[in-house]
Amino acid sequence: MCGIFGYVGTRRNAGEIVVEGLKRLEYRGYDSWGVACKEQNGSVSVNKDIGRIGTVDGSGFCQDCALAVAHTRWATHGGVTQLNAHPHLSCDGTIAVVHNGIVENYLEIKRELKAKGHTFLSETDTEVIPHLIEEKYKETGDFAAAVRTACLHFTGRYAVLALHTESNTLVAARTGSPLIVGVEREGLENRATEIGKSQVPSPACPAKLGERNRESRVPHQSYFIASDIPAFLPFTKTVQYLDDGEMVVTDGHSIIFSDIETGEERPKREIGITWSVEQAEKGDFDHYMLKEIMDQKESVARAVNQDETQIMTLAQAIRNAQGTFLVGCGTAGKACMAAEYFFSVVAEHHVNFCAASEFKVYHHFLKPASLLIVVSQSGETADVLEAMEVAKRKGSKVLAIVNVEGSTIAREADYTLLIRAGPERAVASTKALTGQLAALLLIAYALGDRLQEGKTLLLETSAQISDMLNPRYVERLSKLAEDMKDREDLYIIGKSWNYPMAMESAIKIQEVSYVHAEGFAGGELKHGPIALIEEGTPCIALMGKDEVQMDILSNAMELKARGAWIIGVSPERFEVFDEWIKVPDAGVAQAIVNIIPIQVLAYFLAVKRGKDPDMPRNLAKSVTVK
Ligand code: GLU
Repeated sequence: MCGIFGYVGTRRNAGEIVVEGLKRLEYRGYDSWGVACKEQNGSVSVNKDIGRIGTVDGSGFCQDCALAVAHTRWATHGGVTQLNAHPHLSCDGTIAVVHNGIVENYLEIKRELKAKGHTFLSETDTEVIPHLIEEKYKETGDFAAAVRTACLHFTGRYAVLALHTESNTLVAARTGSPLIVGVEREGLENRATEIGKSQVPSPACPAKLGERNRESRVPHQSYFIASDIPAFLPFTKTVQYLDDGEMVVTDGHSIIFSDIETGEERPKREIGITWSVEQAEKGDFDHYMLKEIMDQKESVARAVNQDETQIMTLAQAIRNAQGTFLVGCGTAGKACMAAEYFFSVVAEHHVNFCAASEFKVYHHFLKPASLLIVVSQSGETADVLEAMEVAKRKGSKVLAIVNVEGSTIAREADYTLLIRAGPERAVASTKALTGQLAALLLIAYALGDRLQEGKTLLLETSAQISDMLNPRYVERLSKLAEDMKDREDLYIIGKSWNYPMAMESAIKIQEVSYVHAEGFAGGELKHGPIALIEEGTPCIALMGKDEVQMDILSNAMELKARGAWIIGVSPERFEVFDEWIKVPDAGVAQAIVNIIPIQVLAYFLAVKRGKDPDMPRNLAKSVTVK
């Protein structure tokens, strides 16, 4: 949750850089925004407001400015007000802080600071951070040390970025929420190569701040510190990742990473990343969500084209494990639930799905011989990270299926499989889900010793998706959304792997269009929910040409008999359908194709109801709080 971005370097438009970068991070949180810049006279100027940063012009915030921090907030403590928006300042105004996460013990710290004479302007937990750093700085006169000792007092998962005017530095620390450093040395970018293939070493010995030769001939040398890579992608593709428990200090000339706990320096490699600016932009599409739905023409194939030896290794890890758990949250959780069916049907192997937020009661089952499979788009989901930490503590192995390379989960798992969907910016997950489903199904086939069969099926499915997402098809779904847009309740039914997809359909429709939608297992209807059906209630039935086809058809008929308006998502047409959304017959991969028209429908429902599908109310993309 929330976007953090800071700049220090030789460029003189830091205010504008951080504002523009934040716009690329807005998917992370968008209830308010704020920027702090170091002015020419050494003072800090702050601009902040409620609402979105989308139309804010940062060019006027600070003239000739080379040090700035900025933030988009997803409020946890204190309402959405201008005063509560970050950055927050120290009493003397020399320290500006932006923060992601929660300082759990802030009330106690606030009480102590108030007793020492500090004045607080906001209701946030965040505001204790600049004031405590200020206290520590008075003691030591060393800003980085002051941030470090302040951090030792905080409990909870967070990322902090602090600007200090006197020392002209940025200091960032992380214990749970992501922070990535971008390094710009103009003209040297081609030194970085693809992640994992070759890594560029850091400058020989990290010079102490201020000791390095400042007469650099390089036209621009900059350090960017952000919650996610798109913030600084137009400037650099060379990154350095902060791990949990680490901090970083930079004055724009050099950079030092260290351990928060011990203060010891940590060597850090520079890594080249492969994302392009274009991949992260929405191009000709009106919204990221529609672009990312369309990306599925290629992204499913990217998830499938994996190194086969690696897939076999993962299958072997599942085979060897005494008990495998599959955990994820929200949409990724639905992929895990569908995978429970994949593993049963394709490999006759039992795995246990659990929503990551509900996993606590199962912790005691984790043993050294257990395997935990975690699925996350961002690779930063707090509940998933917690499950993973517990598993590691208990000696269990962790297999991660993630989209974001270099994310915490991707780096800390024993085995990591990247689905390579490319940046997903819309809050509603689309292409990441189908990539997760494809990767999980591929592993299930490998476990059933039928990897090639699975690969062929999935690549054929990918080609079918590409055909399906043609303009006529999309237009037809837009028309259906027009007919449905004024309905306030909608139900989706499915059976087998289409059951988790029915629940995922409901999530997609709820989160972007705010229509009340619920997904059920078709057979459960007559045990309660059928009482909700009235004349004309829209009900979507997700179907495949499989052994449960007739069962779900009967469920659709039961609904129709109570007056429901039946929309069938199915490879075949049946009389019971009032509307038929044709999908290709994808066999075991049916879940992957069936969810796609629902994603398109949810998108158009949002647009036709006047909602912004990319940034739904109350939500944020990367859920880094529990
Ligand atoms: N807890 C902080 C607040 O509510 C930070 C929230 C965030 O991560 O945006 O202000």
